[in-house]
Amino acid sequence: MPNIKLLQPAKLDEAVAVLAAENEDAKIIAGGTALVIMLRNRLIAPATLISLGRLHELRTIRHEPGTGLRIGALATVREAELSPVVREKNPMLAQAFGKVGNVRVRNAATVGGNLSEADYASDPPCVLVALRARVKARSARGEREIPLTGLFKSFYETALAADEILTELIVPDLAPGSRAAYLKFISRSSEDRPCVGMAVVLESEPDGTCKDLRLVAGAVAETPQEIAAAEALARGQRLSDDLVAEIAEAYASSIEPLSDLRGSDWYRKQIIGVLARRALKQALASS
Ligand SMILES: Cc1cc2nc3c(=O)[nH]c(=O)nc-3n(C[C@H](O)[C@H](O)[C@H](O)COP(=O)(O)OP(=O)(O)OC[C@H]3O[C@@H](n4cnc5c(N)ncnc54)[C@H](O)[C@@H]3O)c2cc1C
Repeated sequence: MPNIKLLQPAKLDEAVAVLAAENEDAKIIAGGTALVIMLRNRLIAPATLISLGRLHELRTIRHEPGTGLRIGALATVREAELSPVVREKNPMLAQAFGKVGNVRVRNAATVGGNLSEADYASDPPCVLVALRARVKARSARGEREIPLTGLFKSFYETALAADEILTELIVPDLAPGSRAAYLKFISRSSEDRPCVGMAVVLESEPDGTCKDLRLVAGAVAETPQEIAAAEALARGQRLSDDLVAEIAEAYASSIEPLSDLRGSDWYRKQIIGVLARRALKQALASS
């Protein structure tokens, strides 16, 4: 690898100032699990790396009543998976973090790095879209919030500007009576990225009818996929086996999946239908 200048700011203010000054020649490094592979394969050649590793202020995980879970971008995926507060407030989210790669990867990979990388074959993005999470981004110009529904733009492309650092993930509390599930289908090794991921968040009325359904597929297209017409079939209805099958079918038939080394478009379409049905049934069966 060519000589690369490494900067290690200790404060967020310093980090955004350095990023603004270095501009396009700099790359942020957090856990390095994705970035080092990109460097090794010469996909990127930054003059400067700005490490976020000393920004301990971005590592906390807490719950704020009225806001929800607040997960610092530098928290590792493993810390989010094992966090007592994440497990208590949103067990499905903790489980989804636990499905990322293997323990070694999760110990280094950060939550912010996973979202910023925007690899289409990732687990957390579709889960966080279904949970209607949002992220905070800071630059020398100020701070803004970006809903997860607007964060992912294309393959490896997010709405983050080059001078912005993703600082925090905010996950609102599930509405009372909500049920959620995430299923990951892997087609190669047990530690692989998903061939298809399927996240469900189901909100119910007190009488048991569906108030709102969010069903989001990951790893099937450049960004997480949500099919509003399929979700609308559930609203105001009791989710019988027949209706679940109808929603899953409507869902699978509306998505044009990509083909890659984990599965062809045809194969993925079959898996999407099966996974949508199973994820809905799992959510319905959970308390
Ligand atoms: C063997 C292996 C298996 C994997 N399996 C899975 C899997 O099953 N499921 C899954 O979802 N993922 C998987 N991954 C991907 C892994 O989750 C990501 O590589 C990781 O989360 C990225 O986080 P990081 O902290 O290492 O980011 P880095 O590698 O440090 O950075 C990744 C990218 O994000 C940018 N970046 C990082 N942090 C920020 C920030 N706070 N603000 C702005 N930009 C930032 C960097 O500039 C870089 O472009 C796997 C990775 C490996 C190596």
